[in-house]
Amino acid sequence: MEKRYDFTQIEKQMQTLWECEQIYHFDKNAKGEIYSVDTPPPTVSGSLHIGHLFSYTQAEMIARFRRMQGYNVFYPFGFDDNGLPTERLVEREEKIRASILPRSEFISKCQTTVAKYENEFKTFWKSLGFSVDWTTEYQTISPEITKISQELFLELAKTGKAYIKEAPVLWCTECQTSIAQAELETFDIESETASHAVGTHERCGKPAEMKPSRQWYIDILTEQERFLRAADEINWYPANMKNRYIAWVENLKWDWCISRQRYFGVPFPVWYCKECEKPAFAEKEQLPINPLEVEYSGTCECGCTNFTPESAVFDTWATSSITPQINERLGIKLTPMSMRTHAHEIIRTWTFYTIVRSIYHTDSIPWKDLMICGFILAKKGEKISKSKNNNNLDPKHLVATHSADVLRYWTAGAKLGTDTFFSPDELSISKRFITKLWNASRFSISHLRDIDFVKIPSLLPVDRWIIERANETMSNAAKLLYEYEIGSARHEIDEFFWKDFCDNYIEIVKERLYQPDIHGIEERKSGQFALYYTLLSIMKMYAIYVPHITEHIYQSFFKQHEKEASIHLTHWAKPTGIDADIINFGEVLKIAISEMRKYKSENNLSMATEIEAFEIRTSPHFIEWFKQSEKDILACSKAKELKLIS
Ligand SMILES: [Zn+2]
Ligand SMILES: [Zn+2]
Repeated sequence: MEKRYDFTQIEKQMQTLWECEQIYHFDKNAKGEIYSVDTPPPTVSGSLHIGHLFSYTQAEMIARFRRMQGYNVFYPFGFDDNGLPTERLVEREEKIRASILPRSEFISKCQTTVAKYENEFKTFWKSLGFSVDWTTEYQTISPEITKISQELFLELAKTGKAYIKEAPVLWCTECQTSIAQAELETFDIESETASHAVGTHERCGKPAEMKPSRQWYIDILTEQERFLRAADEINWYPANMKNRYIAWVENLKWDWCISRQRYFGVPFPVWYCKECEKPAFAEKEQLPINPLEVEYSGTCECGCTNFTPESAVFDTWATSSITPQINERLGIKLTPMSMRTHAHEIIRTWTFYTIVRSIYHTDSIPWKDLMICGFILAKKGEKISKSKNNNNLDPKHLVATHSADVLRYWTAGAKLGTDTFFSPDELSISKRFITKLWNASRFSISHLRDIDFVKIPSLLPVDRWIIERANETMSNAAKLLYEYEIGSARHEIDEFFWKDFCDNYIEIVKERLYQPDIHGIEERKSGQFALYYTLLSIMKMYAIYVPHITEHIYQSFFKQHEKEASIHLTHWAKPTGIDADIINFGEVLKIAISEMRKYKSENNLSMATEIEAFEIRTSPHFIEWFKQSEKDILACSKAKELKLIS
C-alpha cells in the first residue's frame, strides 16, 4: 500500500470499478427484502450548491447501510426538470421572456438547458460516490413520465378528486400564473380582501394576489382528517418533524391548484367544448398527449364537435408528488416504499402532496419511514442555496480539492434534521480522520501479509476483547442507523476506532506482531486473526461514510481472502450476544494503560521509558486474563514486572 493516500487518483478509480462491475445494480429477483428509497428528484433550477450535497449524502449513507444489512436496495434517481423553476432558469440564462417567444421555441430552449444541468448534477453525484442504480434514472418531463402523470390525473378527474372551477385563485403577477398556497413564502390572509397581496411567491419573491380565474384543483380540504391520520401511520425521523406537517394540514385554506399558465410542463390531457365549456378527456391509450398538438375527435353531450385545447400545464408538484408510482413503472411492487428523504423546507409541499396522491391512488401511505434532513447555512439564518455563489462553497470545487470522502465524513457529523453551518475549515477533522484510517490500515496490513486461515488460533484475552468490541460497536451503530441517526452512529464508530483500536489495541499488540520469538508464534497468530477481523469490521462500518478509501483498502488487501467483489457487497456481522465480561476486562485494561501513560507524562518521562513495575488492581474474576496478557502489558508499558492486585 502506498505511503500516502492520493484521493485524486483513487476516488475516480473506485467509481470506475463500481460502474464496470455494476456493484449497485438493482436486481428485483436478488435475495433479501427490498428496501426502496424514494429519492427527491432535484429541481433543475440552477447550479448545484452545498445544500444538495448535505441531504442527499445523508440518505445515500442509509442506502449503503441497508445494503450491508442484507437488504436488496432499490435506490433510483430522477430529475424534476419542468415547471416554473426550470423556466425561470432558462429565462435567466438566455436573457429571454417565455411570454414573447413562440411556445415551441421556448420549450426547445428549456430542453437544451435541462439536459446540460442534468448532466452536471449526475456527474456530481457520481463524483461523490453515490450508490445509485443509474439505469433507473427518469426525467419528470419525459414522455414516459408525462404518460404516468396524465394517467393518474385522469384517474382523479374520474373520481371527482380533480376538478375545474372558476374562483379567486392565488395569482403571481410577475410569473403570470396561478400558484398554490404552499408556494407562498409568507402567509396571512385573515384580514386581506380578494385583490390584495396575500404573501410572496417563493419562486420570484414578488407579491401574489387573489384573482378570479378558471383553474384545475385537487380536492384536499374534504380529506384533511385522512391526511392527518396518515401522519400517524408514518415513522418520522426525527419525530418532531411530524408537527410541522400537522400544522400545515390543519391550516389548509384552499384546495390544491394544479394548473399553471406556463409552458414547460406536463400538459393537461383535456379539451373544452366550445359551446358548453364542459371538459373532454383524452383516452388512456392516447397518452402521453399534448392537446395543443392533437384535436379532440369526440362529440360533447351537448352535440357540439368543436373543442378548445387546454393550454395550461401541470404544476411541477403534480408530477413529483407521484414518485412512488413513477418508481413502480419498472414493474416492481414498491408502495408503500421503505423510505422517503428530503430537507425540512418541503414538508408542506413534497411530503404533503405525495401523501395526498398516495391516499387517492393506492388508499395507503406512500412510505413507511420519512427521514428529514436539515440545511447547511452559510451564516446565521442564511440558507446556502439562497446565498451568493462563492467558490469556497461550490460543491464541485470542494470535492475536487478536498475529496468526496472528506466531505461525506463531514456531512455525517450533523444531527438529523438540524441545520448546520459550513466553512471549509470544518473539514480539517475529516482530513485527520482519513490520514489516521490510512496509516492504521497500512500498519495493520503490513503485519497481515502472511496470515493463514487454515485454523483459527486460540485467542488471547486482549484479542478476544477487541473482536468483541468490534461486534458491539457494529451492533450499536446498526441500531442507530435503523433510526436514521447517521451522526450518532458515526460517533460510536469513531470512539471505537480512535480509542480502542488505535490508542490501545494496536499499541498493545504491536510487539507481539513484530517479535514472535519473544511472544510466541501461536500468540502472534492470535493477534493476526484479531487484527484482520477488527480492521475488516472497521472498513465495513466506515464504508457507508467513506466508500472510496475503504474500497481501496479492501481491494488492496482483503479481497484476496474474502469472496465479495467489493467491500460494499459485504455484510455487517450480526452478533447474537455480546460477551460483557471480556468487554469489561478490556475497560479495566484501558484504564490501567491510561493511568500508566498519565504517570509517565506527569513525570516528564517518554512513553518508551522503562518502569520498574506496573501495578493493576482488578477483581479476582479478571486475574487469569491479566496473567495471560502479561507479555503484552509489559511490552506496551515498558515495565519490568506486572503486579496484579485483587
Ligand atoms: Zn412569481
Ligand atoms: Zn358541450
